[in-house]
Amino acid sequence: MKDLHSFGWYAARVSPHLPKEAFKPVPTRLFGGLAYFLVALAGIFSVSLFNLPFWANTLIAMAIGLCFAGMCFLGHEILHGTVVRKPFLRDFLGGVAFSSIGIGPKLWRKWHNMTHHVHTQHEHNDPDTWSTAEFISKRPLLAFFFRQPNFIRMIGYIIFLTFNFTLHSTRMFFVFFKEFKPNKQPLVLLELLLPWATWIVLLFVVGPVKWVFIFLIPAAIANFIMSSYIATNHNLNPQMEVNDPLANSLSVTVPKWVNVLHFNFSYHTEHHLFPAMSSKYYPLVKEKIKEFWPERYHEMPMSRAMLILLKTPRPYLKEDELVDMFNGKVYSVLGKGLNPEKVESHKKLNLKQVLLPSKK
Ligand SMILES: [Zn+2]
Repeated sequence: MKDLHSFGWYAARVSPHLPKEAFKPVPTRLFGGLAYFLVALAGIFSVSLFNLPFWANTLIAMAIGLCFAGMCFLGHEILHGTVVRKPFLRDFLGGVAFSSIGIGPKLWRKWHNMTHHVHTQHEHNDPDTWSTAEFISKRPLLAFFFRQPNFIRMIGYIIFLTFNFTLHSTRMFFVFFKEFKPNKQPLVLLELLLPWATWIVLLFVVGPVKWVFIFLIPAAIANFIMSSYIATNHNLNPQMEVNDPLANSLSVTVPKWVNVLHFNFSYHTEHHLFPAMSSKYYPLVKEKIKEFWPERYHEMPMSRAMLILLKTPRPYLKEDELVDMFNGKVYSVLGKGLNPEKVESHKKLNLKQVLLPSKK
């Protein structure tokens, strides 16, 4: 693990080469968020008030889903403090932006800013890193799923991406709630209940069929888009004790218009160097990283990263290897032997060797 550096080490070397305005908040990002909010609202009203044909409702649901995803990307930025500095405004806008997933701003900042960013890809301390095969093997339901052939796991994984972000954030509420001071807990609970109460009230107001178009399908689309990015951010990288963003993060490339729609969320390694910087400046950070440490930087097209995610197993065998719990095949991770051009297993283990309960 020698030759690894913390994000602060990299940031200190890149900072002098960035313009001063890169370290200031960029409130104009809110115009994008407002556009998403208004389009989503118009969609929700159109489906609710009129009896539109099925195809029109489906198209509108898709548009609302894209808006929900865009708002979540902006919510991530807002709650890092890169858009507005005033805490109340930051939390209010962040809460509205994340309302489709039901994530409260205080929970998100504790979970994402203060835990995931500080302990990225630490096997025990990062709540967002994937589990080890040893952990999964002790949980019968999870182990059953991971012992299925890859084809079934692939279908399951794609379906999983449509609800993963909502499921994980709800789980995080129960993980982190007790860590808030007792006088803060009612507010944290309110921030969870308020968005959910809104969606549930809407269910009774518009009825279940229209609700599917104004919430369920859009939330599934937003989940899929967010979860796809989140999966490519770290899941192909090693777990490690030192939080080195060049080793434990992956930046994906997408067409420029996608970056505009998703507030440059594809620049993920850059984000881990400068989480408190507006993503508007990440292309400049990328330039510098590629100039200083081209051999350490991980980057690939989003489509290729998604394909590799489908071709490789998710459970970690150890920090730099993934293991297929169906056949014992072991795969390397990025920077440790995984070849993005040609994904293949480099060894095969007897499953009993890797502490998995024997198949019956
Ligand atoms: Zn972040």
